Amino acid sequence: MGVYTTEAIVVGYRDLGEADRILTLFSPERGKIHAVARGVRRPRSPLLAGTQLFSYSKFLLVEGKNLDSVSQCELKESFFKIREDLDRMAYGAYFAELLRISTRECDKSEEVFRFFLKTLFLLQVWEDLQVMARVFELKLMALQGFKPQIFCCVNCGEKRMEKVWFSSLSGGILCEKCKNKDEKAIRISNETLSVMKHILKKRFEELAELKVTQDVKNELKEVILNFVLHQLERKPRTLSFLEDISIL
Ligand SMILES: [Zn+2]
Repeated sequence: MGVYTTEAIVVGYRDLGEADRILTLFSPERGKIHAVARGVRRPRSPLLAGTQLFSYSKFLLVEGKNLDSVSQCELKESFFKIREDLDRMAYGAYFAELLRISTRECDKSEEVFRFFLKTLFLLQVWEDLQVMARVFELKLMALQGFKPQIFCCVNCGEKRMEKVWFSSLSGGILCEKCKNKDEKAIRISNETLSVMKHILKKRFEELAELKVTQDVKNELKEVILNFVLHQLERKPRTLSFLEDISIL
C-alpha cells in the first residue's frame, strides 16, 4: 500500500461507527480526497486538532482499497475564529459544500485550493457576509469553469445595452431584443451588473471593502444564487440552514 503526504483543508466530514470519521479533504495535488480518521472522536486523539472542519493541515495518508486513511496530521491553521462565530461557521459550511459539489472526484487544482484557503482567511474578518457569499459564489463558479458572460449579450454579442436581463439558462446577460430566449431571465439594474463585473475583475481580498445598497444586494442574491443552483443542479443542504437562521 502506498503512503503519501499532502497539504489539505478539511472541507467536510461524517461520523463513522463509534469513534471514526470520514473526512473530505481538498488538496492542491489531488483535489478531493475521502479518508478515514480512525479513533478521531476519542478525547485524546492525536488527529483531533488537525482534522476539524476548515483545519488546514499537513497529512500523512495511507492508500486503501476503497478509502485512504489518515496516519498522521500536523495542524498549520485552525481558523478557530470561524468556528467560534455561528454566522461565520454557517457561511463557511456553505462555502465548503459549494466547493465539494462543484468539484468532481478527479479534479485537482492548485488554483482552487489557494482560492479556498484565501476564502477561509477572509471569512475570519469580512464584515458583510452576505456580500462575501455573492463574491465567493461568482468567483468559485468562474474558477470551476462556469464563468457567466456578463460583458456582452450572450446571444447576439451586443455590448451597448440600456436594459439588461440575466439568464441562468443561457449563462449570461441578454439584451432587450434577445431577452425572450429565456422566459425566466431576470431584469437587473445597471448598477448590479457593474458590481458583478467588478467582482469578476478584482481579486478576492480587494473586495473586502465593497459596499452595495440593499437593492443591489437583493438583486445580486437573486441572480447569482439562481445561477449557482442552475449550474449545480441541486440545492446545498447548508443553504437551507442559512435560510433557517435568516442570515443569508
Ligand atoms: Zn442580444
